[in-house]
Amino acid sequence: MARILITSALPYINGIKHLGNLIGSQLPADLYARYNRGRGNEVMFLCATDEHGTPAELAAAKADQPVAEYCADMHKVQTDIADRFGLSFDHYGRSSSMQNRKLTQHFASKLADAGLITEVEDRQVYSNTDGRFLPDRYVEGTCPNCGHDGARGDQCEECTKQLDPTDLINPRSAISGSTDLEVRETKHLFLRQSALRDQLDQWIDSKTDWPILTTSIAKKWLHDGDGLQDRGITRDLDWGVPVKKGDEDWPGMEGKVFYVWFDAPIEYIAATGEWAEANGKTDADWQRWWRTDMGADDVKYVQFMGKDNVPFHTLSFPATILGSGEPWKMVDHLKSFNYLNYDGGQFSTSKGRGVFMDQALEILPADYWRWWLLSHAPESSDSEFTWENFQQSVNKDLADVLGNFVSRITKFCRSKFGEAVPEGAEYGEQEQALIAELTTRIRAYEGHMDAMEVRKSAQELRAIWVAGNEYLQSAAPWSTFKTEPEKAATQVRMGLNLIRLYAVLSAPFIPTAAASMLSAMNTLNTSWPDDVAEALNALPVGHDFSVPDVLFAKITDDQREDWQSRFSGKRD
Ligand SMILES: [Zn+2]
Repeated sequence: MARILITSALPYINGIKHLGNLIGSQLPADLYARYNRGRGNEVMFLCATDEHGTPAELAAAKADQPVAEYCADMHKVQTDIADRFGLSFDHYGRSSSMQNRKLTQHFASKLADAGLITEVEDRQVYSNTDGRFLPDRYVEGTCPNCGHDGARGDQCEECTKQLDPTDLINPRSAISGSTDLEVRETKHLFLRQSALRDQLDQWIDSKTDWPILTTSIAKKWLHDGDGLQDRGITRDLDWGVPVKKGDEDWPGMEGKVFYVWFDAPIEYIAATGEWAEANGKTDADWQRWWRTDMGADDVKYVQFMGKDNVPFHTLSFPATILGSGEPWKMVDHLKSFNYLNYDGGQFSTSKGRGVFMDQALEILPADYWRWWLLSHAPESSDSEFTWENFQQSVNKDLADVLGNFVSRITKFCRSKFGEAVPEGAEYGEQEQALIAELTTRIRAYEGHMDAMEVRKSAQELRAIWVAGNEYLQSAAPWSTFKTEPEKAATQVRMGLNLIRLYAVLSAPFIPTAAASMLSAMNTLNTSWPDDVAEALNALPVGHDFSVPDVLFAKITDDQREDWQSRFSGKRD
């Protein structure tokens, strides 16, 4: 039994995520977690809300709530939606947890001990009206690069250029709108990433099985221009992890917090500590996943994220871990995704364009979305959501192929043999041919799933469903029954066993439908089909079942048109 540690990039706390966010990390991570559990591996699957930084403070101010209360509320909202999408986290943590606070302060202290932190006099925008520094998004103004007027202190959304608040032309406070601003000196901690360049370089070189796309992004940041830059890891804010050296005060850093990008990835580890605490486990129980001196040596660690997050996961977070000099588990495989576009443009949280997770569940159950998103995952390039494609994929793959198979065989059996697996004879030539084909296909499916090839896995799963349909079509028990009822019984027995097999194989993609199929087959047997012939005899003769409700309803043209217009404009 392998031990697999899986983390999904942390969704930011300020609002409900859209489907593009979902397929960019959480959903494929869930697919992989469910698959590995299905194979009998020991899985620890973690995610958390990323709660610090200026966007959270600004969103809380807009909602007229204290920021801690706003984050607690939004965490509940995100947890609920994640549950309803079937995201099977072992723990969904919070980067504002006490565990993360302690661990972030611990890492900072280790980095300081190793001489990897310097104190730098920095120039920051200060608002006389607001009586405070204005880091990152607290300053708005005109982009020096493209002239866009609504540029924020960390980035211009129009031209995507990364900015520093002092770069903005005609800057103003995002809190009060005041232009009574000045640049003041303030002291900040910088992580000396440049001193870790060779170590990071060697570590990246050791990852020979990583996709070129991933290693080339990391190499570019390591070597382009002046090479990897030192990075400010503190901010003049109230909301965040207070700057401390372990348990001790950090002279000169009073009232400052760590930058959100420093503490957020540490939450991957801290969330495991939260899991331990929430489940009455010991420190050793979570450390065996993360400390190579505590048993994590045999753990395979996989991270899922959007491509924009790759530099932080290949350089910044590894710099924190390597620099600590402590034996922490580092990532073994990093699976990154391109972007999902929406109907001829981009999903946009700020513009409210596209379908958001809560809206998706208002119109259809999670499995419909899970299937489409995973089978169209933006792996090798960006992909696009269109309502036509969604309708076609749901109607063909889910309703016509899988749903129809289940409905047809269960109803036919009920009408001719009753609601129990009929006896018939031994499986014949046709059944043996099917077993041979399914064996080949299931081994291919496992190969794609192990390699985290999401689209290829979906294609193979669909082919496995199709093989059963083709068998049923050509065996035609409804005709056989007239002349050879015993043979028809054998065919039906095969069909009912296929339903259980499909439920087990499909559960990572469509867990709710898979559970309905198992429940209709009246079985708790979810064992993986290592031996396909054996798996197709799992439901014995005489075993009771019931005819399930329709698994997947077809999407009508009227519905499609209705949703198309409903989601074309601004989210209300
Ligand atoms: Zn710009």
